[in-house]
Amino acid sequence: MKYALVTGGSRGIGRAICVKLAEMGHYIIINFASNTEEAEKTLAMVREKGGDGEIMKFNVGNQSEVETMLGGWLEKNPDKCIEVLVNNAGIKKDQLLMWMSNDEWNSVLDTNLGGFFNVTRLIIKGMLVKKYGRVVNVVSLSGLKGLPGQTNYSASKAGVIGATKALSQEVGRRNITVNAVAPGFIKTDMTEGINEKDFKQLIPMARFGTSEEVAEAVGFLASEKASYITGQVLSVNGGLYS
Ligand code: NAP
Repeated sequence: MKYALVTGGSRGIGRAICVKLAEMGHYIIINFASNTEEAEKTLAMVREKGGDGEIMKFNVGNQSEVETMLGGWLEKNPDKCIEVLVNNAGIKKDQLLMWMSNDEWNSVLDTNLGGFFNVTRLIIKGMLVKKYGRVVNVVSLSGLKGLPGQTNYSASKAGVIGATKALSQEVGRRNITVNAVAPGFIKTDMTEGINEKDFKQLIPMARFGTSEEVAEAVGFLASEKASYITGQVLSVNGGLYS
């Protein structure tokens, strides 16, 4: 059985990634922060694809919770190796820097960048022992380009991009690849308040993307086929960059 962990798998892009990895034959550990009902729905969708998995509630930004829940699972299952990790959990709290509160800065950095660290540090050990692994980090156009009103979010995603490049160089010899996927505007709860009509003329493909379109890119980088691609950022943004 090939095990995959998807953080933030209860909704949106993470859910589509869970379904895609299930189609590829993985047992899926579906992490989420609070929405048990939606996480159960993702699990049902995984099972509809003929796959299996389990839900696992923890806040990726809370180191002791990650160590208790995920570390506890790893301790109880020493024979099982998570060979695909998708760091997808993320939040945004948009605000102009001059008005930004400590909480708006810290919570976004703790979740998006701290979450990468807390989870990856635990999972990478098993990959190093097994001499195989795929880490895919879901970043953002905002982390490549910077977007006004998102200094916290852009900084967090740019941080993960730097970490992706650094970690890929640490673990490449062990046959572990570390890549990032950078979505543009994707239709999910996160973009609910953004009117597609107002923004679509900026996008060469003249529409927002779907979670499934992001999941296809993640699925490729998580597959054995992407064996010589590492330290890269793959944009899935309909041509929107500058
Ligand atoms: P979403 O619909 O808001 O879903 C967010 C997911 O992350 C949910 O499953 C949520 O769990 C989980 N989550 C949030 N905070 C968490 C935490 N502290 N610990 C564990 N899980 C947590 O977001 P989305 O649009 O699918 O975004 C997924 C990723 O893509 C994020 O990293 C986001 O930054 C990135 N992204 C999205 C877009 C876009 O246009 N949508 C563009 C670029 C990048 P609960 O259900 O329990 O709340």
